Amino acid sequence: MRFEDLELQAPLLRAVTEMGFEEMTPIQAQAIPVVLSGGDMIGQAQTGTGKTAAFGLPILQKIDPKKKTLQAVILCPTRELAIQVSEEMHKFAKFLHGIKIVPIYGGQEIVRQIKALKAGTQIVIGTPGRVMDHMRRRTVNFDDVKIVALDEADEMLNMGFRDDIETILKDVPQERQTLLFSATMPQPIMEIARTYQKDAVHIRVVKKELTVPKIEQYYYEVRPKAKLEALTRLLDMYAPKLSLIFCNTKRQVDELVSSLQARGYFAEGLHGDLKQQQRDRVMASFRSGKTDILVATDVAARGIDVDDVEAVFNYDVPQDDEYYVHRIGRTGRAGRDGRAFTLVVGREVYKLRDIMRYCKTKIRLQPLPSLDDVMSVKAEKILDQVHAVIERGDLARMTELIESRVNDEEYTSIEMAAAFLKLAMGDGVNAEELKDEYDAFGDTGAEEEGMVRLFINLGKKNNIRPGDILGAIAGETRMPGRLIGSIDLYDKYTFVEVPREYAAEVLERMKDVRIRGKSVNIEPANRRS
Ligand code: ADP
Ligand code: MG
Repeated sequence: MRFEDLELQAPLLRAVTEMGFEEMTPIQAQAIPVVLSGGDMIGQAQTGTGKTAAFGLPILQKIDPKKKTLQAVILCPTRELAIQVSEEMHKFAKFLHGIKIVPIYGGQEIVRQIKALKAGTQIVIGTPGRVMDHMRRRTVNFDDVKIVALDEADEMLNMGFRDDIETILKDVPQERQTLLFSATMPQPIMEIARTYQKDAVHIRVVKKELTVPKIEQYYYEVRPKAKLEALTRLLDMYAPKLSLIFCNTKRQVDELVSSLQARGYFAEGLHGDLKQQQRDRVMASFRSGKTDILVATDVAARGIDVDDVEAVFNYDVPQDDEYYVHRIGRTGRAGRDGRAFTLVVGREVYKLRDIMRYCKTKIRLQPLPSLDDVMSVKAEKILDQVHAVIERGDLARMTELIESRVNDEEYTSIEMAAAFLKLAMGDGVNAEELKDEYDAFGDTGAEEEGMVRLFINLGKKNNIRPGDILGAIAGETRMPGRLIGSIDLYDKYTFVEVPREYAAEVLERMKDVRIRGKSVNIEPANRRS
């Protein structure tokens, strides 16, 4: 399952290594050889399983850098996804020469795109609407296109792009490779596959049944920048004897180890780049408890067998449901207590829901411990140690020193004890309080956890349909349409639910928008009584 085992060019392997990918995901292992061999394919795998690399790497390999014409078209449902895929492709192409990749989406100045298309772009990543726009203007030429990939095909159909997609597919020369990626395979997708593909290989990443260990599992919703702070709070609060922290990439392991060490934690990293000797040293140190925090990638942790791990932290949500089960299985061994904590950023919460569904396990949302909680727990620990020191006695000389200070100064011995406690606790407790995103919109009465319910002043009487609302939000913001929750249409108004982390952006961007010619007034809903 290593990238090196494929017939990928050295510059692509180098890029993948630099990005910290250790091993292929199952969809990559199965799809890349098919795409390299020139066949059509349908790839079905859930979100977050690495589909971009599954088509991106072999497509890059198939581009002729000497030819300055358009050779591959990748269609994505939203501009945010087009940009995301384009960014990932640029990373893959870092060590290739003469390859130009351009994202093309609505809302961006078309003249800029036309210039880019004329300037020898070989790969276009676009939303169907905007690609059609260029076809109508004749600013895009498909004559040399050898590969078309539909990314998130189910979502594109949900958003009503079916006709556009078919128009584009009809316009691209027949001698081409057609790749179709989708998380689900509803009927219309199979129809497109039948009509526009030839002998497509159907790859479906199926999941095994897994048993989840019975341990307490929690997750925390955090902002990306607050991940480190959240982790250290949990480490301080629960003070596990040994902790295993998982990251998705080698680079993240290295970064996290440095950050933790800088904050005074005894942490070490374990990943595939370490020599056997280094690995052995790190493991020995962890087993003996000299290092109490081990940060690892999934692959590197595979062989680890340590009984006293009291907590597993998923610093990154695992790429694969199965990884989640393997990860948390490292704690609660041999009948001991164990806990698993997962940090969740933004739309990763949907991945976590998949994991819960697939693993048939309950992972409970918890608020992060407040600084106050962390402080109390830390103080308790130090005071317990103080208690033990008093029990042991032999404090005469210290008592003398304290007495003389208290006699000379204006403060009491209690104040002195408090100051000692503060010194012993370090300055961590003064760290900037994390802004609590939960309070930003108050309780809007959203049905789903993690969502904010918004009120819009237009409804059925204004001829508004759910698709209009969805289209407006997906078109104006970076939020992918599929993240929209329930849309409740009434005669004169509508309620729509959006994920909390996008709520502010939706409110801001929708202010000046018109839907069906009517200007929009949008605000957080009031809690339903
Ligand atoms: P999907 O399209 O299936 O939802 P993506 O292609 O967006 O998934 O990948 C999700 C994340 O996983 C990205 O951050 C990507 O860089 C990362 N990723 C992809 N393949 C690997 C791999 N083999 N090892 C580690 N990380 C990977
Ligand atoms: Mg994707």
